[in-house]
Order: sequence, then C-alpha cells, then structure tokens
Amino acid sequence: MTVTVASDEEFLVIARPHAGVSLQQPVLRTDVAGMPLEWIDYREAARLHHQGQVAYTCGSPIFRLQGGTNALTGQRTVLEVHSIVATVGQSGNPGHLRKDYVPPLNNETLFRRDAHLCLYCGGRFGQRDLSRDHVRPFSQGGRDTWSNVVTACRRCNNFKAWRTPEQARMQLIAVPFTPTYAEYIFLKGRRVLADQMEYLLAHFPRSSPLHGRIAHLMA
Ligand SMILES: [Zn+2]
Repeated sequence: MTVTVASDEEFLVIARPHAGVSLQQPVLRTDVAGMPLEWIDYREAARLHHQGQVAYTCGSPIFRLQGGTNALTGQRTVLEVHSIVATVGQSGNPGHLRKDYVPPLNNETLFRRDAHLCLYCGGRFGQRDLSRDHVRPFSQGGRDTWSNVVTACRRCNNFKAWRTPEQARMQLIAVPFTPTYAEYIFLKGRRVLADQMEYLLAHFPRSSPLHGRIAHLMA
C-alpha cells in the first residue's frame, strides 16, 4: 500500500500496519496539551509527521511508514506512527474552548451512547432495529436534543408513540445525557484500540455513564 502525501514536495510513503492492526485503523489526534481532537487515518498522520506538526506520541506503534531516500545518507526514512499523536498548532477542540459546546446529534453516536440498548425494554439490537425516541414528544414541546432523546427498539417506539413515558406507563432504564467532547470522540470511533480507549476514558467526567457501558460498547 502506498500513499502520496501532498505537501511542499512529493513524499511517497509506504504504510505497513503492525500485526493485528488494520490499515483502516484510525489514529487519535490530540492537541499539544493532550486533549482529544479527532480521528485521522494513516495518510493524515503521515502528513502531520512530515510537516513537523507532531509534538509527541502515545500508545503503541501501529503503522510503519517508509518515506523517500535521504539524499545525504541514502537511507530511507522510516517512521513509526503510534495510536495517539499529539499535534502542535491551533487546538481546534471546541469542547475545550467553549463550555457550552454541544456535539452534533446523530443516530450512530446516539445508539453508541446507549450501548445499542433499548432504554425502555433493555434489549440489545443492531443499528437497523433501533430508532431515536423523543422522551418528551415534539407534539408536547419536546426537542431534538441529547438530553431528550434515547435509543429505543422499533417495537417500544411504536408502542410509546406520541406520549411521554409516564403517559405510556413505560420506564427509562437510564437517563439521557449530553456527551462531552471527549465522550463524543469516543462515540464516533469505529475501531477503538485498547490504549486509545484507556486514553479517552481518562478524559471522561468521573460521573460519565459511559464508564459502566464500556464492556457493552467494546463487545
Ligand atoms: Zn424496546
């Protein structure tokens, strides 16, 4: 697998994932203070390394990148990309800069927040059998916000219809919450390595319900 990283000069990179790691494995990018920022692929990681924007790395090496031949030494540049890279420059962490930051709401991250459990019957379902339920329905002034939506199986959602849980005599098994930025980054991760998870966990609030849901989420 080769990739050309566009920059001031053409830089040919051969990327080899380490054993047990997929080439699609995302790298966790943080700011220089270690605050989680986003998931990037190995191409972006290579570009950041090449442009000297990587301040330090954490976690385990997951890719070996071979660059061009050095004109002076005749050696090929070899670079190990780790699972977590801290980068210099603008922080870009909206959760860090703004206290009232609210991550965008979408079904994929909502279902992951609730560990793919229907918060009414407690059953665990695949993505396509789940739906977004508005605890207080639109018709009764409910809004489409993290704190008013829960994961529900289609059966429970249909049964509840345009009623509140009280009106439908249904009980929520967990309270909906708005994820912090670090929690949101975790929820967005499609493949999260053990060391990346540990790193993100350390940035969750102590009271985060996700601490108790990790086993479900990683299953
Ligand atoms: Zn259900």
